[in-house]
Amino acid sequence: MKGICILGATGSIGVSTLDVVARHSNLYKVIALTANTNIDTLFQQCLEHRPEVVVVVNEAKAQVFEEQLKNTPIANIKVLSGAKALEQVATLDNVDSVMAAIVGAAGLLPSLAAAKAGKTILLANKEALVMSGAIFMQAVADSGAQLLPIDSEHNAIFQCMPAGYKTGMQAKQARRILLTASGGPFRETPVEQLVNVTPAQAVAHPNWDMGRKISVDSATMMNKGLEMIEACILFNMTPDQIQVVIHPQSVIHSMVDYVDGTVLAEMGNPDMRIPIAYSMAWPDRFDSGVEPLNIFDVGRMDFQEPDLERFPCLRLAYEAIAAGGIMPTVLNAANEIAVEAFLNEAVRFTDIPVIIEQCMKQFEAKVADTLEIILEADQQARLVSSQIIAEFTH
Ligand code: NAD
Ligand code: MG
Repeated sequence: MKGICILGATGSIGVSTLDVVARHSNLYKVIALTANTNIDTLFQQCLEHRPEVVVVVNEAKAQVFEEQLKNTPIANIKVLSGAKALEQVATLDNVDSVMAAIVGAAGLLPSLAAAKAGKTILLANKEALVMSGAIFMQAVADSGAQLLPIDSEHNAIFQCMPAGYKTGMQAKQARRILLTASGGPFRETPVEQLVNVTPAQAVAHPNWDMGRKISVDSATMMNKGLEMIEACILFNMTPDQIQVVIHPQSVIHSMVDYVDGTVLAEMGNPDMRIPIAYSMAWPDRFDSGVEPLNIFDVGRMDFQEPDLERFPCLRLAYEAIAAGGIMPTVLNAANEIAVEAFLNEAVRFTDIPVIIEQCMKQFEAKVADTLEIILEADQQARLVSSQIIAEFTH
């Protein structure tokens, strides 16, 4: 029986994780669940999964939640609040596996704490890895933690790696990664119409049902940019070894190209319970609840090269990793601020890459060899991009 802590339990990945956990209650026990503010969903999850402890980061909401628990069958659940408590629950002795599914930079410290504590980390929170790359991988290596990627592409790549492969290792026989992308909802929208895209249109992804931030990232293809950086870190490769491939059907979740000409692909329906179940059962497999792939319904698969003019965010991600140091952190922070502003209708869809590029220009790619430098760069880039937005004139 393994104990699991789910950071970001109330989000899209968190909900899918609990769906898989419920299918394997003989193998997994929920120890801790965390939420930022969504206490209604958390309450239902507590009734069903009976964790020992929960974190509600927002202190006012945590108080309301504690009141709600009184005189219910789940009154014994311990309620913690504040960001520091996330690190506390991610490192509890009876927690074996930590699902890192908080969105954005807010997930960095608890994910890193789990890495330092030698836990099995199921990593969905790509932003944490993009920010802290080498430091994160070093923490994993030092503690003997197990790092299993949840992002569907990286999970697919991991599944296509040679037997015995561990994340962070260099797989010499693998010469290239083919990182697939759906192309998002605006793959074929005339470029001049992108300026009018609304938040509702941007979050309506054709193939995957995800949180709002990653849905916008998919529409701008910043998601693929972050994933390209994530792939370089996880699989110890250089950016020129990663080819982004637009594959609108999202049936192939990514591929590995070997020196002998073999290309291995992992396929399945676009449902995050596949990578989640794979990582939870690893190195075995178990049922994920996902329907078998009907290859006849798929019928055909298409592949195209991405257009960096249509998707400037992808170009910016290549520039950030080429610059190195703190630049991926700056890219990520500026993107988080720009996407939030877009979702709040303060800027246009096409302003997102403009804000990020202007922000990146104001930073030098200082070496990112300590956590303090990374956190400082994150804060500074947030300030700078907020200023850029405040001064924006159309
Ligand atoms: P979501 O918005 O649906 O959920 C986010 C979760 O994080 C929620 O539980 C929320 O309470 C919590 N959270 C938000 N801000 C927080 C803060 N400041 N402090 C603490 N907790 C906070 O997001 P999601 O779609 O589930 O994505 C989660 C992560 O997984 C992201 O990094 C995303 O890139 C990655 N991911 C998601 C998918 C997907 O299909 N949804 C696929 C691949 C990777
Ligand atoms: Mg992905």
